[in-house]
Amino acid sequence: MLNKPRLLTPGPTPLPERVRLAMAHDMIHHRKAQFKALFGEVQTGLKELFGTTQVVLPMAASGTGAMAAAVTGLFQPGETVLVVEAGRFAERWSEICRMHGIHVVVITVPWGEGVAPQAVQKALAAHPEASGVLMQLSETSTGVQHPVKEVAAITRESKALLVVDGISGVSIAPCPMDAWGIDCLVTGSQKGLMLPPGLALLAFSGRAWQKAEGVPPCNFYFNLLAERENCLKNQTNFTTPVSLIVGLRESLAMFRETGLEAVYRKQWALTRMVRASVKAMGLTLYAPTHFAWGVTSILLPEAMNASTLVAHATSQHGVIFAAGQGHMKDRMVRFGHMGWVDYGDILAGLHALAASYVALGGFISCRDYLEQGLVAYHTALQEPITLV
Ligand SMILES: *Cc1c(COP(=O)(O)O)cnc(C)c1O
Repeated sequence: MLNKPRLLTPGPTPLPERVRLAMAHDMIHHRKAQFKALFGEVQTGLKELFGTTQVVLPMAASGTGAMAAAVTGLFQPGETVLVVEAGRFAERWSEICRMHGIHVVVITVPWGEGVAPQAVQKALAAHPEASGVLMQLSETSTGVQHPVKEVAAITRESKALLVVDGISGVSIAPCPMDAWGIDCLVTGSQKGLMLPPGLALLAFSGRAWQKAEGVPPCNFYFNLLAERENCLKNQTNFTTPVSLIVGLRESLAMFRETGLEAVYRKQWALTRMVRASVKAMGLTLYAPTHFAWGVTSILLPEAMNASTLVAHATSQHGVIFAAGQGHMKDRMVRFGHMGWVDYGDILAGLHALAASYVALGGFISCRDYLEQGLVAYHTALQEPITLV
């Protein structure tokens, strides 16, 4: 009760009041004119956000639904794909593919690092039969952002389709699909899009649609060819999560009013803020170079348990962080700074982190870690960022 709850996790993320109020309206029917107009508006906004002229398909599912739909829509059992495996979410690509009878060649990247584009080039040369390269834009389990643009420059010269999980990246860092040559980009509603969970979004490039047209539909619900046909009529194959589409119209309007460049710049500045402050505290940043713009992973000393720190930050400061995943579960705190958060929330988060760390026996000599974070924030706001 003393503190406002602040959701600083890498999804779900806080909801703007404007989005919540829009979603509180009464239901409209998903086959009537009012919905079709709404859908058309949302489609325009999604194309801008994805940087594509292709349709962006909304489906009722969590983000993983779009990952599964991408795999079964693009590849058939027996085909070979390369998976850039650098964390838990990358492992999910491999699991989905194997379950579908697809042969997976893993490009192993140590946790905390981004993939070297040459590693993808080498793997493609060694496996000319590969029909896809699957990776994350942002690997949320490690706080890494991969050089998707550089990988796309390689895959678009090959027959392999580049399939990108942008679930914690789209609307957080630039990832223009058409300009970079990405063949499939997926995301989910509960991260950068400032919406509740439940909506999956997927877009294919022209050559991905060509490939998909040759794949016999094998999943009644995730039939992307049927979904595209409906989308062109401002419809979805099955009953749409109407409230989420209504909320999406609001969040897309917020992005348009702010400007995507300003949105990305804010994300960049919040990232610099968290990193500068955490460094000043003397804590260890887990992803040294290829760091994500929506989540910062912080390595704790061996003696400190991440879940205990996370629980302390929640009960004493109202700040909700995420612990690590997989073998890093108890070693890492993941500080989310994506979606509807600003520097004020981040100040609260940084203080909660430092105070919880000290309460658990850690030592921080620096008194001005917040000041250092703010300086980094304001400096980064002035820096140019590359949009394409
Ligand atoms: C959150 C996340 C997912 C999983 O999304 P769900 O909505 O939980 O299915 C997949 N990939 C990445 C990179 C994520 O951040």
